[in-house]
Amino acid sequence: MTEGFETLAIHAGQEPDPYTGAVVPPIYAVSTYKQDGVGGLRAGYEYSRSANPTRTALEEAVAAVEGGARGLAFASGLAAEDTLLRTVCRPSDHVLIPNDAYGGTYRLFSKVNRPWDLHYDPVALGDLDAVAAAMTPKTRIVWVETPTNPLLGIADIAALAELAHDNGALLVVDNTFASPYLQQPLALGADVVVHSTTKYVGGHSDVVGGALVTADAELGERLAFHQNAMGAVAGPFDAWLTLRGLKTLAVRMERHCDNAERVADLLLAHPRVSSVLYPGLPDHPGHETAAKQMRRFGGMVSFRVAGGEAEAVEICNRTKLFTLGESLGGVESLIEHPGRMTHASAAGSPLEVPADLVRLSVGIESVDDLLADLSRALG
Ligand SMILES: *Cc1c(COP(=O)(O)O)cnc(C)c1O
Repeated sequence: MTEGFETLAIHAGQEPDPYTGAVVPPIYAVSTYKQDGVGGLRAGYEYSRSANPTRTALEEAVAAVEGGARGLAFASGLAAEDTLLRTVCRPSDHVLIPNDAYGGTYRLFSKVNRPWDLHYDPVALGDLDAVAAAMTPKTRIVWVETPTNPLLGIADIAALAELAHDNGALLVVDNTFASPYLQQPLALGADVVVHSTTKYVGGHSDVVGGALVTADAELGERLAFHQNAMGAVAGPFDAWLTLRGLKTLAVRMERHCDNAERVADLLLAHPRVSSVLYPGLPDHPGHETAAKQMRRFGGMVSFRVAGGEAEAVEICNRTKLFTLGESLGGVESLIEHPGRMTHASAAGSPLEVPADLVRLSVGIESVDDLLADLSRALG
């Protein structure tokens, strides 16, 4: 990339409006566009499912910050994933997914696409031999999350890209937890990056959205065809909010990381905490790989509670500043019990999470207030 990350986040795809000079892309709340004679499109716009200028600005900016050839914006992260799967997979194909994949992603494979004869196997992506062994001639995608949700597992993107490509499969990386500021999967050999822009990219818990970025323009074109044909696009208001969030991603992520490191240290020293899951800790099994492929270690911290499930639930109920809620990546700190909340649908499946687990999305409030809130809740 020629320009720096922050410059691209603020300027890529966001030239001042040619009509008024507005320095921020306007919200083009419009469905259709006047044609100058039949087929005479101004700037290529015809109908807002196919393209809308506010969405185009977001798509170009997201592609730029991921260092990709093409970016596409969707109504949600899952809409982006669904469009990707239906573009590249065919009945009888096989996909490898993380054995602690995001619950909604798992549900797309286990419930939505399984009836269409798309096969999947959960695998521990940190174990390259296990991944190689699980590969079949029908494997079309190796689906990677790193760090994973909610266990903060780390997978080696470059090594998995090589494995996938040797087997004729695509490497897809869900980069939601790291954000493009901390990790750039395409530069490490991935073919497609997936985002729930609802999380760090949007960053303010005020909009739901998703994005795909491809390394290759031809695959980008096929996805764009399906984006229009299937129609799960980001609306102009949502695209505008997401773009506004993206501009400050770098400074927000630095503070998320600062605060998460302090929170991890507090938890590590606390007698009621049996283990802390944070890739920034030197004894985390993925620490070295994370240090190699991430700028810093992110704002998500999970921990297990010595007193078991009941006490984990109690802690979630006792914090005040850490708001009890699902989702993550916003400026405000959140706390949740994955077993009963975000990952309840994984109960009884190979992706079931420990009952004594608590997940934190560490926000960018004053860190001393966050530490005091957690200390109080832990007792
Ligand atoms: C939230 C999330 C998704 C799904 O995104 P939505 O915007 O909620 O549809 C996918 N992957 C990860 C890692 C997530 O956290």
